[in-house]
Amino acid sequence: MNPLHWPVRMHIASLGVSKFCFLFSLAFCGLLLLLIPVLQPPARQVDLPQPRPQVRPHHVRVPGVSVHAGETDSATEPNMSSAGQGRSIETDGTRNDIHSPKRGMDSKMGALPGGKGGRFSGSRSRDLLEFKDIFIAVKTTRKYHKSRLELLIQTWVSQAKEQTYIFTDGEDKELRMRTGANIINTNCSAAHTRQALCCKMSVEYDKFIESQKKWFCHVDDDNYVILPSLLRLLSSYHHSQDVYLGRPSLDHPIEAAERVKSDGSVSVKFWFATGGAGFCISRGLALKMSPWASLGNFISTAERIRLPDDCTIGYIIEALLEVTLTHTHLFHSHLENLQKLPTDTVLEQVTLSFGGFKNRRNVVSIVGGFSLAEDPTRFKTVHCLLYPDTNWCPKLQHRHTN
Ligand code: UDP
Ligand code: MN
Repeated sequence: MNPLHWPVRMHIASLGVSKFCFLFSLAFCGLLLLLIPVLQPPARQVDLPQPRPQVRPHHVRVPGVSVHAGETDSATEPNMSSAGQGRSIETDGTRNDIHSPKRGMDSKMGALPGGKGGRFSGSRSRDLLEFKDIFIAVKTTRKYHKSRLELLIQTWVSQAKEQTYIFTDGEDKELRMRTGANIINTNCSAAHTRQALCCKMSVEYDKFIESQKKWFCHVDDDNYVILPSLLRLLSSYHHSQDVYLGRPSLDHPIEAAERVKSDGSVSVKFWFATGGAGFCISRGLALKMSPWASLGNFISTAERIRLPDDCTIGYIIEALLEVTLTHTHLFHSHLENLQKLPTDTVLEQVTLSFGGFKNRRNVVSIVGGFSLAEDPTRFKTVHCLLYPDTNWCPKLQHRHTN
């Protein structure tokens, strides 16, 4: 072998070694890449923080729920004509001006956005919520214990005894003993005045804060709460986010003189969820409301702006805390024409109501085991469709056994 060739050969040999090293490291990297998914910890099954509903893009909207930043979404929002103020309320004559407080039925209520909505898209992360995490406040008054409250206790409240709190203004030990319901005597006046209603809301708020539950929901004693739908709806948000869910009774924000942050010379516009359809507030947001809502502050806030309880809630959340109301069509008051709610979507709603027995019956159209005479509110019929095994529900005659 020619010694002259040595360096050349060595060079070739070292080239071979570095080529081998290069290929080896390539193979090693490839192997590492393949192993990455295996070495990673398993994906978390629990819920991740949700995007704030206020900024949720429309393509992931919850059926029946829309987010508004001051304007009505004409594609999904029925044009509502009845005002929250239209709910019969006596005032002391110092009521704040609310623009267009028209009364009457909402004739344009109709199809729900998202079709028969009620199911949510699977890609959204959820709060692992249980019934016991929800605080449901029912506002009532002594004179409605027999005519309204008993029906609720017999129906949906019986399925949520632990988390339903009934706020009234008169002692009724007999009702409490017989039904085992959580009845709280607020000692507020029994009058249908702004002060009396705000007094009850103030107690509701304080009791919720005390309860440590994740969600505060308020309903009237003429509401039926479809509990599975409520749980499903709230599960699509996180209680630590700022969430205010409900249905406005107006198609525009109300305007009121700003007397909390200023001297009343300027006005403020905000949306509010009508109390007669029920509304829900996350714990995170409720805690932020504390300076204006806790320990009697709610009453003084309402007095300052001279608005009823539900408007005052909207004022604190939208005007003072600058959190947007998430509009939902799943909540219903008797200010709407309830007959227009498509029958096949009734059980997917979150709240129902009834009204207008004197002149025109305003109830949901649903058929079941009870006639209109036997069940004028339709709440028993709804209840038996949801819980057919209830002992007082008519047994299904033609159940197939094979
Ligand atoms: N309510 C009350 N005190 C009264 C009258 C009514 O707390 O003196 C409650 C009633 O129990 C219901 C809510 O206020 O939960 C709304 O009352 P109603 O349905 O009679 O009137 P609306 O405002 O819906 O027309
Ligand atoms: Mn009512």
